[in-house]
Amino acid sequence: MQAPRSVLRVALPVPLPRLFDYLPPPGVDAASIAIGQRLRVTFGARELCGIVVGHGPAEAGFEVRPALALPDAGPLLHGELLASLQWLAGYLHAPQGDVLATALPAALRHGEPLPETETVAWRLTEAGRTALPAMRAGKPKALAMLLERTRDEDWLDAESPGWRSQLRTLRERGLADRAALDRATAGVSPTQAAPALNDEQHAAAEAIRAATGFATFLLDGVTGSGKTEVYLHAIADCLARGRQALVLVPEIGLTPQMLARFRARLGLPVHALHSGLTDNERAAAWMAAARGQARVIVGTRSAAFVPLPEAGLIVVDEEHDGSYKQFDGIRYHARDFAIVRARALDVPVVLGSATPSLESLHNAHAGRYAHLRLARRAGNAQPPAVRVLDVRKRPLQAGLSNEALDAIRAALDAGGQVLVFKNRRGYAPALLCHDCGWSAQCRRCDASLTVHAHGRRLQCHHCGARVAAPLACPDCASLALQPQGNGTERIEEELAARFAHVPVLRIDRGSTRKRDALQKQFDAIGDGAGILIGTQMLAKGHDLPNLRLVVVAGIDEGLFSADFRSGEKLAQLLVQVAGRAGRADKPGTVLLQTHHPGHPLLQTLVNGGYHAFAETELAMREAAGFPPFAHLALLRAEATHADPPAQFLQHAKALLHGAPVELHGPLPAPMPRRAGYVRAQLLLSATQRRELHAALDVLLPQLHAAPEARRLRWSLDVDPVDLY
Ligand code: ADP
Ligand code: ZN
Ligand code: ZN
Repeated sequence: MQAPRSVLRVALPVPLPRLFDYLPPPGVDAASIAIGQRLRVTFGARELCGIVVGHGPAEAGFEVRPALALPDAGPLLHGELLASLQWLAGYLHAPQGDVLATALPAALRHGEPLPETETVAWRLTEAGRTALPAMRAGKPKALAMLLERTRDEDWLDAESPGWRSQLRTLRERGLADRAALDRATAGVSPTQAAPALNDEQHAAAEAIRAATGFATFLLDGVTGSGKTEVYLHAIADCLARGRQALVLVPEIGLTPQMLARFRARLGLPVHALHSGLTDNERAAAWMAAARGQARVIVGTRSAAFVPLPEAGLIVVDEEHDGSYKQFDGIRYHARDFAIVRARALDVPVVLGSATPSLESLHNAHAGRYAHLRLARRAGNAQPPAVRVLDVRKRPLQAGLSNEALDAIRAALDAGGQVLVFKNRRGYAPALLCHDCGWSAQCRRCDASLTVHAHGRRLQCHHCGARVAAPLACPDCASLALQPQGNGTERIEEELAARFAHVPVLRIDRGSTRKRDALQKQFDAIGDGAGILIGTQMLAKGHDLPNLRLVVVAGIDEGLFSADFRSGEKLAQLLVQVAGRAGRADKPGTVLLQTHHPGHPLLQTLVNGGYHAFAETELAMREAAGFPPFAHLALLRAEATHADPPAQFLQHAKALLHGAPVELHGPLPAPMPRRAGYVRAQLLLSATQRRELHAALDVLLPQLHAAPEARRLRWSLDVDPVDLY
């Protein structure tokens, strides 16, 4: 009898909830292949790169194909990271292969060779040292003086822009050469000293320092209270202990300004990981973390997946931010996964925010998180004065009241900067026929088309469709077509005409696709008088020390939304936008225009502040049985016709019969048709997380196997943030 042949169990990047068996590539012994190694295989007619997650005996009667190749000498996903990802796959009820593939940077997922990550550094040669005193003053000499010490390229990029051409000159003359960078001495000394911490900051930093293993801290500090300083202290401690630190920031929070501050204060290369990098750059940063070369990694959502072989600390800045939740594919929450990893790594995790999520506040109240409060602004900075402007019956120009326009003029005359916040991109939210009432609708979505380009173009913000605006009404041929309401473009047009003597910048997703472009716009306005107009992109990010006035041009849409989270999101947005005013020693003013000055949310927020709002909102959530007092999962289905989603979700509902979960639906999604797809959903809710997951454990395999599932697109969202 032949002994059963040993096979490799492989997680492949396919949306199927199972592993696949392969024999090792020809000439390789299965036992020599480690868990976590990449493996190239054929899958149907395709070639895929998977991850070996186990060994086992071949099942009798099944033909097992040999794998094609083993690209690496050792494992890529292993230890804590692999275990945490496998836990995540279980928690999200998502295929393991899909989750592992999501965690890898695209280049590595597709099987590209592992990138070089040694930090390249430069220094003077002996000849260079000898020649230096006699060199003529100029750019090459300036660089030569810096290269008396070994400098890594990252440092040179930050401290000496344009250094590469000077280096070429020095190298051609044999004066400078590549140097090995010893990790222990890689730290160039900090170029910026830390301010002395105030008492509140000091207490927070001490509490974090005292944590010897896993602990979750909620650093709850008003905007400008110096949270970043506390992070920097904690990171410096972590580095001094010889450990790596990971800092997660929201997509828009990761500015060149912020990276420069980190690098200047820590005196180390800071490895950035965000969506603006090329695939190769992302793979290199990820591998530098895996190899322990990256000591500080600052990144957006997907940086939650970097390997941290020498982890010492995880920080999640602006922990309430919606960009931490992935909205398609593997629907993970980077903050929540960061906490899971901190526990597995046995290191402290710091969640910072001026407007903590209700989930985190609830956990702090329950004693699961240590609650660190920073109630005052750091240094001399004063909190802004907030005024609610009742605009009922007032004349409005592009949605701005005379009072707001006067305040803008006064702030500009005083040499200050003004921020006008409006959460609507485009010129106007709708195009209406004044004669017959026709309005422009998207053909593929249940939504109005937004007017763009000063009325020339119509655009759907849900499916991306763009069409030229009609010249006449398609229904009655009238020429009386009118843009309705105001978007950021229209406000820009109005303010640019009124205040032609100052720069007027519009910052939103339409105007700013690239991080660098955004930085250039900020550079253009500098510290001088000027106006910034934008959507929620302006709520954080680039520091604006000369900001005197914030005008919130309209938030009324958000006051009456049906989503149970809309109040929390609106309160966070208002407090974050307001917090941008008066960050330095100049006090700031916030004008909040509304048609609903008596709305309880505004009243509580203005009179009591964010925490008063949060208490009220938590009480309401508890009474209504919403998170954090209940746990949700949302099953979504969509197809080109209405029947398949309804049948699929009815089937799911029948399968859940008797399970200890509450079911709501199936119901049409809040936007029933999007991009030509009819969408429906079934909401599952349970007071115990355990019960919800037990029900899903039973449900998901049956859904994958259901014939109904093949006729549509469906997805499960565990802990959904948006219920649509
Ligand atoms: P946050 O992250 O809470 O918004 P920051 O850490 O960015 O706050 O600090 C806001 C401003 O106050 C920054 O300009 C920072 O340099 C300054 N700052 C922070 N802590 C202190 C301190 N202890 N003394 C003086 N200035 C400080
Ligand atoms: Zn008409
Ligand atoms: Zn559309």
